[in-house]
Amino acid sequence: MLAALAVLPLCAAYAPATRTALHLQAGRRAHAPQMADEHFEYLVIGGGSGGVSSARRAAAHGAKVAVVERDRLGGTCVNVGCVPKKVMFNAGSVQEILHLASGYGFTVEGVSFDMASLKAKRDAYVKRLNGIYESNLKNSGITEIKGDAVFVGPKEVKVGDQTYTGTTVLIAVGGTPTMPDIPGIELGITSDGFFELEAIPKRVAVVGSGYIAVELAGILQLLGAQVDLFIRGELPLRTMEPDVVSLLVEEMTAAGVNWVRGEIGELAAAADGTKTATLTSGAKHEGYDEVLFAIGRRPVTESLNLETAGVETTANGEVVVDAAQRTTADGVYAVGDIITGAVQLTPVAIAAGRLLSDRLFAGVPEEETIMDYDMIPTVVFSHPTMAVMGLTEAQALERYGADEVTVHKSTWVNMMYSREFLVEGHGAMPPKTRAKIVCVGPEQRVVGLHMIGLAVDEMLQGFGVAIKMGATKADFDSIVAIHPTSSEELVTIPPWQAKYKVAVDETTGKVAATGPAFAR
Ligand SMILES: Cc1cc2nc3c(=O)[nH]c(=O)nc-3n(C[C@H](O)[C@H](O)[C@H](O)COP(=O)(O)OP(=O)(O)OC[C@H]3O[C@@H](n4cnc5c(N)ncnc54)[C@H](O)[C@@H]3O)c2cc1C
Repeated sequence: MLAALAVLPLCAAYAPATRTALHLQAGRRAHAPQMADEHFEYLVIGGGSGGVSSARRAAAHGAKVAVVERDRLGGTCVNVGCVPKKVMFNAGSVQEILHLASGYGFTVEGVSFDMASLKAKRDAYVKRLNGIYESNLKNSGITEIKGDAVFVGPKEVKVGDQTYTGTTVLIAVGGTPTMPDIPGIELGITSDGFFELEAIPKRVAVVGSGYIAVELAGILQLLGAQVDLFIRGELPLRTMEPDVVSLLVEEMTAAGVNWVRGEIGELAAAADGTKTATLTSGAKHEGYDEVLFAIGRRPVTESLNLETAGVETTANGEVVVDAAQRTTADGVYAVGDIITGAVQLTPVAIAAGRLLSDRLFAGVPEEETIMDYDMIPTVVFSHPTMAVMGLTEAQALERYGADEVTVHKSTWVNMMYSREFLVEGHGAMPPKTRAKIVCVGPEQRVVGLHMIGLAVDEMLQGFGVAIKMGATKADFDSIVAIHPTSSEELVTIPPWQAKYKVAVDETTGKVAATGPAFAR
C-alpha cells in the first residue's frame, strides 16, 4: 500500500493532461529577447550522452528543443570513449579465446591480426551510430544546430552568426584528455590518439593509473604490443577496493604488462624514431613507438564565455552545480563530465539529464529527480574485467565503524580456466575470479560489491538492482544458485546467513519458534 502511494505523484506528473498544462505554463513564461534568431524552451549545448538524453526526454514531454553540437553527435562515449573502446576490448577478448582454443581441442593455425581492417570496421560502426543519433533527434522533433556555442548573454547563445535563446539552457559539453606540461609532450598521444592508430605499436608506454589507462594497456598488450604501464603510486585505481585491484595487477603482470613506478618528467625523440621517457628521478626508459597519456580529463568550458551567462566555474573549469543540477545562473543547468563532483560515466550523464527534464518539463517533484551518486555500479574493461559498486571495506569502516562492518570474500577459478583446459603461457595459471561483499549492521545489508574476473562485467547489473533495493547477505544466500556459472559463487559464500531463525526447545528437541533472524 505504501509503495503504491509513493508511486502516485510520479505517475500523476506523467499524465498527458498535466504535461500539457505544465508545458503551456512554461511556454507562457518564455520571454525571448527580440534579437535572437530563434527561441527554444530548452536549448541544450552539447550533443553527447547527457545533452542528447536530456533533450530527447524534454521533447518527449512536449518541449520545443534544440541541441547545439560542434563535432560528431554522440559525444565522447560514441566517438572516442566507451564504444570504440569496447570494440577494442572485444578484440582483446577474441585474442584471449584464441589463445585458450587449443586447450579445448581446437587447432588454430595461421592466426594474424589486422588492426587497419578492425579500425575501418570500428569507424564505420561509430559513423552508423552518429547517423542513428541524428535520426533520433529528428524523429524526436529536436532542432540540431551545428557549430560552436558561445554565450553572448544570460540564456543567449551564439553559433556562427546566429543567436539562439532558451527559456531553459543546459550545458553538457563534456571534457577532453589532459596532458602534463613537460618538455617533449608533443611526442605523446592521448586516448583520442589511441583511436587513430592504424597499427598496434610494438612498444608502448601507457601513463596513468585510472580506468582508461589500465583498459588501454590491457588491450594493447593482448593485441601484441609490449606495454610498460607508468603509475605514480603502488597500485592503480586508487579509489577502488585494493583486494580486487591487487589481483588485477597480478593478472596483468602475468600477461606481460611491465609496471613502472614513477613520474615522467620529459619525453625525447631518439635517432631511430622511438621515444625516450625520462622519469623525474632521472631514470630513462627507451624504445617506445608510442607514449600514451591517460592521466585525466578536463572540462571544455573555457570557450563558452560562461561569465557572460553568470555561470560560476572552479579553477579547473568545472561548472558549479547543486544537487539538482542548477548552476549559479537562473534557468541554466549542467550535467555530465563537466560538473563539480562529477562521476565521469555515460549512464550517469544520461540519468542526470533525464531526471532534470522530467522535473523541468513534466513537473516531477525535485526530491524525486535528484541524481543518486552513491550507489553507481561500474565496470573497468581491463583484462580481466573488474565490476564494482558501493563502498570499499575501508570506506565502510570509516563511515559505519568497525563494529558494524562485516566483509565476505571469496576467490575461485571460473570453470573455463580449469587446469585441464589451460595452455602454456596463459597468464597467471589459472586466472582467478574474486569477489568481496561489504555489509553493515546485524542484518548485514550489502553496501559494497567488488569483483574481478571473467564475466563479472555482465554479473554486476542484476546484483546492482538487488543492492539498490537494500539486499542483505541473507538475501544473496536465499536465491537458488544457477549452476554451473561463475555467479553462483557469489550467492554461496560462507558463512551463509539464514533469513529466519529457528529456536529449538532443548528438552523436547522440537521447534519452539521461528522468526526473522535479524530483528533488533
Ligand atoms: C577512452 C574513454 C573510455 C570511456 N569508457 C567509458 C565506459 O566504458 N563507460 C562509461 O560509462 N563511460 C566511459 N567513458 C566516459 C564517458 O564517455 C563520459 O562520461 C560521457 O561521454 C560524458 O558525457 P557528457 O554528456 O558529459 O559529455 P560528452 O559525451 O563528451 O558530450 C559533450 C559534447 O559537447 C560538444 N561540445 C563541447 N563544447 C561545445 C560547444 N562549445 N558548442 C557545441 N558543442 C560543444 C562536444 O563536441 C561533445 O559532443 C569513457 C571516456 C573515455 C575518454
